[in-house]
Amino acid sequence: MALDYFDKIWHNGEFIPWESATIHVGSHVLSYASCVFEGIRCYETPQGPAIFRLKDHTDRLLNSCRVYRMEPQYTHQQLQDAMIDLVRVNQAAACYIRPVVFRGYGGLGVNPLDNPIETFLFCWKWGQYMGHGSLAEGVDACVSSWRRMAPDTLPAMAKAAANYMNSQLIKVEAVVNGYTEGIALDTTGNVSEASGANLFVVRDGKLLTPPLASAVLPGITRHTIMTLAEEMGYSVSEQLIPREMLYISDEVFFTGTAAELTPIRSIDRIPVGSGKPGPIARRLQQRFLDTVHGRVEDAHGWLTHCTQPVAATR
Ligand code: PMP
Repeated sequence: MALDYFDKIWHNGEFIPWESATIHVGSHVLSYASCVFEGIRCYETPQGPAIFRLKDHTDRLLNSCRVYRMEPQYTHQQLQDAMIDLVRVNQAAACYIRPVVFRGYGGLGVNPLDNPIETFLFCWKWGQYMGHGSLAEGVDACVSSWRRMAPDTLPAMAKAAANYMNSQLIKVEAVVNGYTEGIALDTTGNVSEASGANLFVVRDGKLLTPPLASAVLPGITRHTIMTLAEEMGYSVSEQLIPREMLYISDEVFFTGTAAELTPIRSIDRIPVGSGKPGPIARRLQQRFLDTVHGRVEDAHGWLTHCTQPVAATR
C-alpha cells in the first residue's frame, strides 16, 4: 500500500523533495542494517499540530546511536528543531515522523567506523496501525514461535533496524496464520513484546508489564500508560509474565506510538476476558487519546506545539 507521504524530507539541514531522498545500493546500511531510528506521532490539537514526547524520542534516538557507537552529527536540540520544522514546512496537521540515522556509502567491510553517518527525517499520514477499527474493537493475536533477541545478541533497548528482522519473523508468521499481531517470548520463555509494540496485562484490576530485561524496547507509550494509569489510581508493576498468564488475564493490550493503545480480544484463539476490549483498557485509551490530542491539561509537558506553518525556505 502506498504511503500517504508529505513531500518535504529533511536531510542535513536542507529540505528536499520526497523523490530526491535516495541512497546508493552500496551504502553500509543496506548490507548490514546499520541504522537506528524513531517513530514519533504529531497529533492534531486545539492549538494546532503537536509532537508527542519529542524530547523522549530524541533521547532514545541518541541512546541508540551511543550503543552502536554512531557519532550523531546533530545535537539533541538541532534534531528536535528539525522535526518541528519538518511538520511546519509540510504544513502537516498530523503525521507520523520517522528519523533515520544510518551508515552510508563508503567501505563495505563489516567494520562501519569509516562510513559517513546520514540523517534523514520524513513523515507521512498513518491511521490505526493494527487496522481500521482496531482501537475500538481490539485485535486477535498469537504467541509467536520466534523469540525476542537474547540480551547479549542484539540489544533490545536500542531501536535499531536489525531488530526488525526479528520483528518481521514474528509479524509475518502471525499474519499468514490469520492473526493481526504476534506476541514474542524472551529467551527464558517469559512474555516479551510484540513485533512493534509493548504489552500490558490486567489481572484483578492491576496492570503488569514485562521489565526491560525481558528484551523489550523501552516504549515511550509504555511509559505514558504507566504514568497515566498510576495517576488514575491503578497499581502498575514491571514483572516477569509467564506465557499462560496471557490466557487467564482479564485484559491484555498493546501500546506503541503507531499502535497507540490497541486492546487484544483473543490470544491463540482463546478469548481475553469477555473477548471484547475491557473497561480498564478503554478508560486508559480514552485518557491517552485525550492527552495526545491536547484535550486535557498537558501536566507533563509532553506536547511540543508546532504553531504556524512556514514556507519551505531551507
Ligand atoms: N516495541 C517495539 C519492538 C517497537 O517497535 C515499538 C514501537 N516503537 C514499541 C515497542 C513501542 O515503543 P513506543 O511506545 O516508544 O513507540
